[in-house]
Amino acid sequence: MHTVIIGNGILALTIAFRLSRRAAAGDKISIIGKRERTGSATLAAGAMLNSFAEIESGSLDSELDLYRFELGHLATKMWPKFEHELIAAAGDCLPQGCRKCQGFQGGGCVDCGTYVVNNTAADDLDDENFDAILAALRDFNEPHELVSPKDIPNYMPDQRHRATRALYIHNEGWFNPRLMVEKLDAILARDHRIAFVEAHVAKLEQTNGTIASVLLEDGQRIEGDHFVVAAGAAVSALMDNSNLGIELQRIFYGVGVSIEIRSPDHRHTKCIRTPNRGLACGIYSVPYISADCNDHILLGASNFMSPTPYPFGRITSVESLLKAGMEQINRNFYRADLVRVNVGWRPTSQDTYPMIGKTSIPNLIVASGTKRDGFHMSPLLSEYVAAMVHGETVDKRFEVFAPERKPIRSLTREQAIRKATRHLTSAAYQHGFTPSKSRMPDQVERMFRDDLETLHDQVGAFDWGIPPEMLDMYRYGHAKP
Ligand SMILES: Cc1cc2nc3c(=O)[nH]c(=O)nc-3n(C[C@H](O)[C@H](O)[C@H](O)COP(=O)(O)OP(=O)(O)OC[C@H]3O[C@@H](n4cnc5c(N)ncnc54)[C@H](O)[C@@H]3O)c2cc1C
Repeated sequence: MHTVIIGNGILALTIAFRLSRRAAAGDKISIIGKRERTGSATLAAGAMLNSFAEIESGSLDSELDLYRFELGHLATKMWPKFEHELIAAAGDCLPQGCRKCQGFQGGGCVDCGTYVVNNTAADDLDDENFDAILAALRDFNEPHELVSPKDIPNYMPDQRHRATRALYIHNEGWFNPRLMVEKLDAILARDHRIAFVEAHVAKLEQTNGTIASVLLEDGQRIEGDHFVVAAGAAVSALMDNSNLGIELQRIFYGVGVSIEIRSPDHRHTKCIRTPNRGLACGIYSVPYISADCNDHILLGASNFMSPTPYPFGRITSVESLLKAGMEQINRNFYRADLVRVNVGWRPTSQDTYPMIGKTSIPNLIVASGTKRDGFHMSPLLSEYVAAMVHGETVDKRFEVFAPERKPIRSLTREQAIRKATRHLTSAAYQHGFTPSKSRMPDQVERMFRDDLETLHDQVGAFDWGIPPEMLDMYRYGHAKP
């Protein structure tokens, strides 16, 4: 059996790893993607393993969102064992940066412990979301504690941006994603059944209702039995080019910037983050470590939606991340060194839910749409996709994310408008909005609301709501109503 995987980010690599565990002697797995991985979300990620810290007010209200949370929670639990499997499989080929690694026991590119801070840098959406995180931690009996912000190691915000509350989540950790990719590359390269093809796929080719091959941009053709499209945000471009006669909702480019800094005087040992706010994940700082370096930190992350690949980080994203890092995490970062600015494309589906599963073409699976937590979800998603390749059924409920579904409309019009108004207002405060001492906050809120009502009318969204991240994609006609 020859499985062809298109893409080489965290999903493609972990799927290949899972398949290699099940592969027979004569099986073959090809991983197609260029080594530089332009726009790879994986390389720009935190990569935090958050399920509780990502909770927002109302985000567990529907059965579907509760299920999605359940999957994230399960992924958190799967990581320690999965990481052990990877280390065991690596044997003596672990990259240099992993040489002191004992998985989640320390010494490597992964560790646990996340502080969520509730500060006043944006608006009271932060308070609501902080309360929602705390309530969920209690409801699910997840180990956590309320802590005094002054006890958070290496947390030294500017006085005006200090937190008034904070909590510590014991089991939510993070990875150095570059090291993880290096490690997976090394593990997979030592398996003679796996081939890395350093190329870009131009299209998939269909014969008699199944995919027969992929055509590479250099004209080379690769035939296979099973095809897994794990090309991140580029999935729609590839599927459009391939003209396969199946309809998938569009995957957009959630352009995100993260910034790696070196801070020898103020090293991090734990992740510090705010709740989600302003249409993104707030500000966070994560230790960005390996065996050779324990003084790098990743500051993240910005987000804006684009219908096409966007290669650069916007100045405003870089400026606001650096400013927020100095003001809200540690004012001493002003004398840290700037190591690298990452730009990654979060694969974000029109309805913002994952797009993962079999298609109506029997040997074609799509794995994308992971938006903000594909790294964290990869042990689980890779296991599910490997099972699908082998014709096994996974959790029936997972079919809700099938690639050919109609866009899920999980918000009513009123819920969507309320949520978007909250997030737009939060974003405005986050970026320096200072209203005059009059009715201005109410007026601005009304202005957002009026604009959102008009937009909903224009796209015919009368009994459903536009996901807040997708407002501009609907506004400018990139998302189909
Ligand atoms: C700034 C930022 C911060 C993030 N933080 C977190 C976090 O803290 N935790 C978390 O879990 N997630 C986080 N994410 C999201 C996470 O990174 C993604 O969900 C995940 O990495 C998606 O993985 P992927 O393999 O699907 O896509 P990608 O990593 O984007 O990989 C896709 C690969 O496919 C290749 N490719 C594209 N088209 C083709 C083609 N035609 N032929 C061959 N190859 C192709 C690309 O070059 C790329 O290398 C973050 C993302 C960003 C941008």
